[in-house]
Amino acid sequence: MAENKRNVCAFCGRKREDVRILIEGLYGMICDECAKQASLIAEESLATISPVPNVPNYKSVPKPQEIKAFLDQYVIGQDDAKKCLSVAVYNHYKRLGQKLDDDSVEIEKSNIIMVGATGTGKTLLARTIAKMLQVPFTIVDATVFTEAGYVGEDVESILSRLLQVADYNVEQAQRGIVFIDEIDKIARKQDNPSITKDVGAEGVQQSLLKLLEGSIVNVPPKGGRKHPDQSYVQVDTRQILFICGGAFDGIERTIAQRLNTHVIGFDSVRNRHRVDQNNLMRYIQPQDLKSYGLIPEMIGRLPVLCALDPLDKEALQKILFEPKNSIVRQYEKLLEMDGIKLSFDKKALDFIVDKALEYKLGARGLRSIVESIMTEAMFTLPSSTKRSFVVTEKYAKEHLKSTLLQ
Ligand code: ADP
Repeated sequence: MAENKRNVCAFCGRKREDVRILIEGLYGMICDECAKQASLIAEESLATISPVPNVPNYKSVPKPQEIKAFLDQYVIGQDDAKKCLSVAVYNHYKRLGQKLDDDSVEIEKSNIIMVGATGTGKTLLARTIAKMLQVPFTIVDATVFTEAGYVGEDVESILSRLLQVADYNVEQAQRGIVFIDEIDKIARKQDNPSITKDVGAEGVQQSLLKLLEGSIVNVPPKGGRKHPDQSYVQVDTRQILFICGGAFDGIERTIAQRLNTHVIGFDSVRNRHRVDQNNLMRYIQPQDLKSYGLIPEMIGRLPVLCALDPLDKEALQKILFEPKNSIVRQYEKLLEMDGIKLSFDKKALDFIVDKALEYKLGARGLRSIVESIMTEAMFTLPSSTKRSFVVTEKYAKEHLKSTLLQ
């Protein structure tokens, strides 16, 4: 390289004496400042370019029975929901594996909607599936979204979060799973007079449609509201699996009404006996969601509908112990780190489960009850000389009483 070329930055033209470092390349030099700039530009561009989608081979995705077996390790009960989810997820990946030029049968997207009371495991199921597939996963709350033009977040910010989880790797984010919680809270108000529509909620549903069905969306990488001077990242949502969840409080009434009308007929008595009155949710149909206030276009884009069972005493007892990361196991582990062996009396466990049933918070109640019972022990035990600790029914009652839960 000519001597004069060795002494100037080929990018900004500054001389050797005006910069800190000059790095030599095959055809010229680059100064430290320009090298830094170049690195930033490369990083930004890589985040905005969608590489050729690397379609996962569905053969490498576990089979539905394997997916369910994995879910069984973490989620108690909910067999129907697990089966339904396993099949939907497997089919989703089959669809991704379909060759673009295969125009014989077009497999449609299998977004999922899970309906079940709070604390029955909707989020846990979605999270566990994402853990198994090792894809980016994010949970968003439908209540924070508003129609464009109102105060709140744009629905596109769902994808900003997925991008953040995927470390801004667009291709990874495009294969992720999004869990939209509290989907029932954006239902149109029932009994609304037909002329005055519930604009806010319906608007949010409308804006979710394009995300759910699959389209290229301009996403503000940092989330928040869109504004004109922002740079956008384009995300293709065709391969993103959306799982929606909601408690749909009171939907049982609609289901009961529908079942009653349908069983009128010559064998109505026989049919009515077959209906499990304690778990009407299991008979849920898409038309019940429509009566509840989801717009038909939205229901159409969530073709897989699964209901979660309410958790009974037996299920709650198992949840305390059985899952790989059950609450009891977590506390045992925490104290084991201090060299203390923790155990719970059978009666103490019964007491915890009874309280959880009383509070009607599903398994979520178990956690808060155990937390309040254990706070004092977790505070004092690490500094004590005790090597073991048993939580008795008396201890549990006393310590729960002294908390706000009472
Ligand atoms: P939801 O989304 O239905 O309101 P979550 O999935 O968030 O409820 O459940 C709250 C917590 O309760 C979870 O973190 C989990 O520890 C526990 N849990 C709920 N349902 C189950 C279940 N079926 N099996 C095991 N744990 C459960």
